[in-house]
Amino acid sequence: MSRENDALYLGLDVGSTATKAVLVDGRGAVRARALAPSGTDFLRAGRTASDQALRDAGRDRAARTTATGYGRKNVPFADDRVTEITCHARGALDHLEPPFTLVDIGGQDNKVIRVGPEARVDDFSMNRKCAAGTGAFLEEIARRLQLDVSEMEPLARQAAEEASIGSFCTVFASTEILKLIQQGTPLNALARGAMRSVVKRVLEMGEFPGTVAVSGGVVAHNPLIAEMLAEETGAAVTVLPAPQFTGALGAALEARRKAQGADAE
Ligand code: ADP
Repeated sequence: MSRENDALYLGLDVGSTATKAVLVDGRGAVRARALAPSGTDFLRAGRTASDQALRDAGRDRAARTTATGYGRKNVPFADDRVTEITCHARGALDHLEPPFTLVDIGGQDNKVIRVGPEARVDDFSMNRKCAAGTGAFLEEIARRLQLDVSEMEPLARQAAEEASIGSFCTVFASTEILKLIQQGTPLNALARGAMRSVVKRVLEMGEFPGTVAVSGGVVAHNPLIAEMLAEETGAAVTVLPAPQFTGALGAALEARRKAQGADAE
């Protein structure tokens, strides 16, 4: 096997909530994925996720490491850093023919990225100002309902009705939920209403022409949100494979591209 085919390339997405690592081989095939909570120490989370992925692939090191995500500057062991927009688009392009609109619903921010027919990012918008419509919103509502966030999706699917949550702000929505609990609204209707609220906030981020792809930890664990997005937009919505790892996959493919480019020089 040539050196190029034997080498593995690491993509590390240091998210505000979860740190994801993906290892690809010389052909760009995924060889390992690992996830660690970002917590309060991004460097430690970066090392934990990377070490886990390398262990799973039976390797000591990667030939090159590219970091992306909110905490990408906190992992000095990476060889380089690439923006989240580029890496998410790159990861999605590995699964989907352009043009498409990628919607990434993360722990603390949402991104809408339009990828044109030439496979380039035409434009994007990002919401990083508030928790509305993000994983943090669902986590806050789950906390208010005394549920684990992983219980929200199965509950919402059982709901015969859907609570209407009007507040934009997470803090106000939480208070609104308290009132609905007091009025006897079933838990499953509240869980379903919280999912609808996430979708409504995403829809406020702009137009969704053409094919829509979704990524991020929220849809990975709550595919009902993708179904609601399809319902509301009338678009065909594709949940990308391993959706929480889209940015890390893009970073790994960037690491491979740069390393192979350097080898070719
Ligand atoms: P970021 O890249 O911003 O750190 P991710 O795309 O990794 O965020 O998504 C993190 C979010 O995924 C969490 O805020 C949470 O809402 C959701 N999530 C993660 N694990 C679970 C789980 N087991 N059950 C339900 N939701 C989950």
